[in-house]
Amino acid sequence: MSLHLSGITLTYPDGDTRLTALDQVGLEVPKGSLTAVVGPSGSGKSSLLAVAATLITPDAGTVTIDGTPTTGLSRAELTDLRRHKIGIVFQQPNLIASLTAVEQLQVMVQIDGRKPRAARDRALELLDAVALADQADRRPHQLSGGQRQRVNIARALMNDPTVLLVDEPTSALDHERGAAVIDLITRLTHQQATATVLVTHDRTHLTAADQIAEVHDGRLTVPAAVTT
Ligand code: ADP
Ligand code: MG
Repeated sequence: MSLHLSGITLTYPDGDTRLTALDQVGLEVPKGSLTAVVGPSGSGKSSLLAVAATLITPDAGTVTIDGTPTTGLSRAELTDLRRHKIGIVFQQPNLIASLTAVEQLQVMVQIDGRKPRAARDRALELLDAVALADQADRRPHQLSGGQRQRVNIARALMNDPTVLLVDEPTSALDHERGAAVIDLITRLTHQQATATVLVTHDRTHLTAADQIAEVHDGRLTVPAAVTT
């Protein structure tokens, strides 16, 4: 077991009342497996990822990462947990304009105090894993949208996360490049043995998922096991 959500309810202030963004959500994502989360815009998908990432504390429920319940942890402990166990890929690849591809990855662990040489080796290895070894010294403006998204994904893996959370990585890509990014995430999930949650709009990409969860109005259901 690697990521376990249980009884998650999350509300946001909404005028005089509160809006229920997540309603009693439970989800189990084993290590080395991919769970796709689909649902209409505004159904709660990004909120679900933010709670799983421990960036938002839910009103109720428990997020357990690698067997450790996160309830009651201090902000510092949560930051530490995120740094070591969680990789997050946001919708927009927010790369730093002045850094090369390999440097985008290297800064992740320099923050963490690991040896720069080891960080560079790991960064180059991951760029190779996302088929960008030959683009290591390019800056974001010299890369295509698909390449930038691959750098973004490689960067999320720098800390060897247990949990990989990916929010609509294909929304800015055409179908073919989108499919390649999903293939990549699937391969990395198995290779790096991450518990991966992938939020996606495009149902055509879902054949690789081990589990498909649907979200409607904050309620999550897992309709049927995927048998492939
Ligand atoms: P999705 O990612 O599926 O589009 P979200 O999780 O972003 O859905 O949003 C779920 C619901 O919560 C929506 O109704 C949205 O307007 C609302 N919401 C999201 N973030 C906030 C926020 N920070 N404050 C208030 N309401 C929010
Ligand atoms: Mg969203």
